[in-house]
Amino acid sequence: MDKKELVRLAIEARESSYSPYSNFRVGAALLTSGGKVYQGCNVENASYGAGICAERNAALRAVFEGEKRFAEIAVVGWHRDAKPEERGYAFPCGICRQFLREFAVPGMKVYVAVSEKEADIREYTLEQLLPESFGPEDLL
Ligand SMILES: [Zn+2]
Repeated sequence: MDKKELVRLAIEARESSYSPYSNFRVGAALLTSGGKVYQGCNVENASYGAGICAERNAALRAVFEGEKRFAEIAVVGWHRDAKPEERGYAFPCGICRQFLREFAVPGMKVYVAVSEKEADIREYTLEQLLPESFGPEDLL
């Protein structure tokens, strides 16, 4: 799948964001190694710490359906009222990086974008965002 399409699906997922406290709306689209896509949005909670990020929302949906090999993820996030030129790159938080690491294929790609235009998409590997990480093979 084209990375622009994955970003487009993340932007679409952002529309489902439940973020009445921060108004920071985040969307993610996760591509499995088998070619399936799972979308997720951030879901806040009145008990702030109980909220969950868009990336883990998407990952949980994938795992629930038996998908445990993640190839790529696109993440977008900006304030509800942000004008296009005010959008910033919303990188996955530390917890999400570790959560994705559990199911990441070697070289898993992470796209962080402010629009689906090629020039607005930054591309990383999960290893770049979480170097020297701890994973399942350390316990097996
Ligand atoms: Zn997160």
